[in-house]
Amino acid sequence: MTAANAPSLSPRANRFEPARLRREFPIFANNPGLVFLDSGASAQKPRSVIDGVAEFYRREYANVHRGVYRLSERATERYEEARETVQAFLNAADAREIVFVRNATEAINLVAGSWGAATLRPGDEVLISELEHHSNIVPWQILRDRIGIRLVVAPIDAEGGLDLAAFEGLFSERTRLVALTHVANATGAMVPVERVVRLAHRHGAKVLIDGSQAAPRLPVDVRALDCDFYAMTGHKLYGPTGIGVLYGRYELLETMPPWQGGGDMVLHVSFEKTLYQDPPHRFEAGTPNIAGAVGLALALDFIEELGREAIREHEEALTAYGADQLSRIPDLCLFGAGERRLGILSFDLDGVHPHDVASVLDQHHVAVRAGHHCAQPLMERLGVAGTTRASLGVYNDERDIDALAAAIEAAREIFLR
Ligand SMILES: *Cc1c(COP(=O)(O)O)cnc(C)c1O
Repeated sequence: MTAANAPSLSPRANRFEPARLRREFPIFANNPGLVFLDSGASAQKPRSVIDGVAEFYRREYANVHRGVYRLSERATERYEEARETVQAFLNAADAREIVFVRNATEAINLVAGSWGAATLRPGDEVLISELEHHSNIVPWQILRDRIGIRLVVAPIDAEGGLDLAAFEGLFSERTRLVALTHVANATGAMVPVERVVRLAHRHGAKVLIDGSQAAPRLPVDVRALDCDFYAMTGHKLYGPTGIGVLYGRYELLETMPPWQGGGDMVLHVSFEKTLYQDPPHRFEAGTPNIAGAVGLALALDFIEELGREAIREHEEALTAYGADQLSRIPDLCLFGAGERRLGILSFDLDGVHPHDVASVLDQHHVAVRAGHHCAQPLMERLGVAGTTRASLGVYNDERDIDALAAAIEAAREIFLR
């Protein structure tokens, strides 16, 4: 039975039959029995993205912003339409606020290298948290070493979420930027970003939100959030690798100098002086990932079709089910943030090395990630070298969680009997 000839229930009930949805993802047909619980590292791709990118190469491909011939104009249209799709996805006010980059890492490096390097002075402070991915730590350290800013780190509370009271106490008159994750990749802890933005703006600081884990799981509205920058990465949004997005408020982007030079980002070049393009093209030097942008737009269409609220409900329900199932397993300690956890189940099995746990899980066809998840400072804070992490996607259901729990029981038998 295919989705097309299946008896249709209400559209919503229909959509969230992950077992049926899995048929949209060829990886599952090609890997029978796969229990894929690693979407937090990278999500699988639906047929619409895979085929759509191939079709784009077959029918419409050419370089963008250059050709005067029809094919190049068409490719440029597809690329710029993709920007509008992202604008709508984030509810940005203007498509010019959407900069295409390689991934979330590059988005954050762009803010640090352009806005940060041009605006910040020695002694200015960037406030991050213990929950951050290395890509929201290291760019600020590089900037610290370059221009002498201070990096201030907000702690987590006993439950593993951001300690808001401590966070608020860390503002000073030198706080220029708050750069926080929306959902922590290592534990799934959710950060109350609306409150964070309000607090930061009250103290005159700008806000960058790392939405790598949140954007695939939650409706995100940058205007309602009122954030200044928002980063996301295509491959975790069911889209291709090598394409990501930096949203930036236009008034800010306008003040920012280029951070890479080359073709496509200039209006006029002479050896004496070069005139730069306006945003977003000022920040897109060189030939961009044209097919990647087209694929990302198709992935966002796929997400919108499922419904962002429906995805959130699915992720919330499955996260709660997973937390409940895992908490019944003796010797297992689940990290996170109490109820404020989304899409990620990160655990320790009585000190058994996460790689050993994950290897046993793999023997049961359960794919999870093991290690520090690019969040070594958080691991240190939690007192572990690493964790085993299951992360959810739209194709997962309770049977995947049951398979995970059974495989963990098998690992207990081996290592802890
Ligand atoms: C995955 C991830 C990143 C980095 O994404 P890339 O695609 O590797 O650039 C940054 N922050 C968080 C929270 C992530 O989950």
